[in-house]
Amino acid sequence: MPNQTTCQRCGECCMRGGPALHEPDLEFIRGGAIPLNCLYTIRPGERAYDNVNGGLFQVTSDIVKIKSRENSPACVFYDDAEKACRIYADRPLECRLQACWDNSALEEAYTGERLSRKVILENSQWLRELIDAHEDRCHFEFIHHYVEGREAGEPSATSELVKIVNYDAHFRDIAVNKGRVPADILDFLLGRPLSEIIHDQFGVKITRI
Ligand code: SF4
Repeated sequence: MPNQTTCQRCGECCMRGGPALHEPDLEFIRGGAIPLNCLYTIRPGERAYDNVNGGLFQVTSDIVKIKSRENSPACVFYDDAEKACRIYADRPLECRLQACWDNSALEEAYTGERLSRKVILENSQWLRELIDAHEDRCHFEFIHHYVEGREAGEPSATSELVKIVNYDAHFRDIAVNKGRVPADILDFLLGRPLSEIIHDQFGVKITRI
């Protein structure tokens, strides 16, 4: 993009997906501009796409991101008709730093001070305990272990993966039906369902029993 120094509002960056959140974005969650049901979490051990350097990397701590629309990578806050952000005044840090003609500010902020689920939920001990209970049984180190075991032909590896996928699904049901957790914040609270991630990231199809 020769000589470009300002945003042309083409919408391309918003159509590619929503940003990850950083600590300065906490005020937009607290203020209600970014509700929890518009977020999802990439959990430690999952693979994620590196928006700055390209390629996949293994995540070491939570990455909380704004969701994409169903059946489209576009950010849920992008308004096609207006070619505008519906939360422009409260848009996250990465969106403020985004400049397709110069990536340097975004690169600098990209890995720093990412918001975690527990920081966002600092006033809700109950939900933080739910995260811990879920990680105890569904941490990605177990998934990696059993996926590798499956590839190495270990006979029990597939059944162990099935157990974890079932546990994850039951945990979500109980959180909603008994714990009264709103179903639409589960992707934020517990990450995407394991059955989907194992299929998307490891090519293993396991259906809930
Ligand atoms: S929050 Fe707004 S500026 Fe950021 S990607 Fe979504 S639509 Fe674009």
